[in-house]
Amino acid sequence: KQKPRIVILGAGYGGILTTVHLQKLLLSDEAEIILINKHDYHYQTTLLHEVAAGTGDENRICIPIKEVIDTQRIRFIKDTVLGVQKEERQVILSHGGTLTYDYLVVALGFQSATFGIPGIMEHALMIRSMNSARKIRNKIESLFADFARVKDLKQTLTLIVGGAGFTGIEFVGELADKVSELCKKHGVDRQRVRLLNVEGGPGILGAFDPSLAAYAKESLERMGVEFRLSTRIKSVDAQGAILASDQGEETISPATVIWTGGVQGNSVVCGTAFDAPRGRIPVEKDLRIKGYENVFVIGDCSAVMDPQTERPFPPTAQLAVMQSATCARNLTSLIRGEQRLEAFHPLMKGSVASLGAHDGAGVILGLKTRGKLAVLAKAIVDNRYLYILGGPKLLFGRGKFTMYCMQ
Ligand code: FAD
Repeated sequence: KQKPRIVILGAGYGGILTTVHLQKLLLSDEAEIILINKHDYHYQTTLLHEVAAGTGDENRICIPIKEVIDTQRIRFIKDTVLGVQKEERQVILSHGGTLTYDYLVVALGFQSATFGIPGIMEHALMIRSMNSARKIRNKIESLFADFARVKDLKQTLTLIVGGAGFTGIEFVGELADKVSELCKKHGVDRQRVRLLNVEGGPGILGAFDPSLAAYAKESLERMGVEFRLSTRIKSVDAQGAILASDQGEETISPATVIWTGGVQGNSVVCGTAFDAPRGRIPVEKDLRIKGYENVFVIGDCSAVMDPQTERPFPPTAQLAVMQSATCARNLTSLIRGEQRLEAFHPLMKGSVASLGAHDGAGVILGLKTRGKLAVLAKAIVDNRYLYILGGPKLLFGRGKFTMYCMQ
């Protein structure tokens, strides 16, 4: 008898952990498991802002996939998924034609949402992947090197970060650290560098408790970040951006824009192979798509309703990690012919935003935390993930430990 084939798309938080759980839960003669990812490494998306700002070491956050999966049990295919033909139960690959599946796990992550703002796609930089993060880091380095040669002391180097959600705030914090370093390295007066955060809403970190958001704003202001709240980026071009608020419009030029203002599920599947009314694919309690009982969607591609708010849970790594465990257990049940699947009940542990390397703010297990304690909490969360993924070897090889010795 042929073994059923499980195909997992994407080796980010959701996909790689589903694979790791399945290799423990299923016996090798129960199913064939195939993992497909663009690159032969897994990266921690939650740390991409550090690579983009040039403060984080990309070698630490990139983990070779073969280091964490059992290659005797799992077939890994390095390829780009171009689409899914759901009726034919096929995945279309960039190099390898098509691949059929009996069960599919969609975990292809996010893409930037630009809300149709003119020029953003063409001229703004975006944190989307490891490659895009490297591109931002290199661009910022070259901007400083070029600016150091500018003789006109009235000229400024302006970096605009669009969006004051989690990613925008964490990125602007790292950037503030990096700007000081780059100014020293290139002999540029810090007063000539503007670091602007532009946010359409009235405050930063909209989902945070107001006292923590206020703490984060003050901390970043001390680090030299200027905020423009209730202000939209109206358009972006090769020279800079036009901002719009109730006070009118302002052209900021020259300036480089890094857009972090929104994410949606990957359009390789969201809104193409499967309906995605608000940019993500709605899933049932067991994480399958209604009407497609052999297809699971997890991570940023999925919309899971939070019964308390009656809105989908915000897309986070924390959610993807928890979904991967339910998804793997439900797949195991299906393979074993059990019809009753487990409902997904996430136990949110809170979230902490970093504010550069030495400060942070957030809530952990219901407790508000800020400052060095928040930095420590964040390092523990990162380290816990490494432990779940690859046990003590991965944790001690790549974990963050210097924070534990903070004064
Ligand atoms: P991802 O982890 O993004 O993985 C998607 C995978 O699919 C990647 O490996 C990618 O290479 C691969 N892929 C994409 N397209 C294709 C294709 N066509 N073919 C083949 N492979 C493909 N969440 C938190 O909980 N806490 C945080 O502190 C936090 N900080 C963040 C900071 C930043 C800068 C960003 C960008 C996000 C942050 N998030 C945070 C959100 C979190 O990173 C995501 O919710 C999480 O990564 C979602 O996991 P995923 O498995 O859906 O996708």
